[in-house]
Amino acid sequence: MAHALIDDQDGSFQGTDLTGTGMVYRDQLVRYHRLDRGYVFPGRQIVDVPGHCWPAPGPEHCTDPSFRGCWFDGNGRPISDICDPDAPEGVVLLCVTCGLDCT
Ligand SMILES: [Zn+2]
Repeated sequence: MAHALIDDQDGSFQGTDLTGTGMVYRDQLVRYHRLDRGYVFPGRQIVDVPGHCWPAPGPEHCTDPSFRGCWFDGNGRPISDICDPDAPEGVVLLCVTCGLDCT
C-alpha cells in the first residue's frame, strides 16, 4: 500500500503520509477545483477512501457548495464532528464531493 509521496524539494505540495490508513492518493493530475476553476496547489491529489465513492469524477467536475470538506481518521472513516473531544484525530481533510486533499 506504500505510495510515493510527492517530493517537496521543488516546492510542490507534500501529501500526508497515508501509510496504514487504507487510503491512497490517486495518481491523477488535478488541474483545478470546482466548476469555477478554483486554484489547486500543484501536487495536491485526490484521495481514494475504501468503501467511499466520491460523487464527482474529479475536482474539475466538482460541484461542492460548502468549501468545508470533511476530516477522515486513520481508519479512513469520516469524522462527523471534529470539535467533539471524543472524536478521533483527523488525518486528512478531503472535499466531500470529489475527494481532493484540502488538508
Ligand atoms: Zn471538490
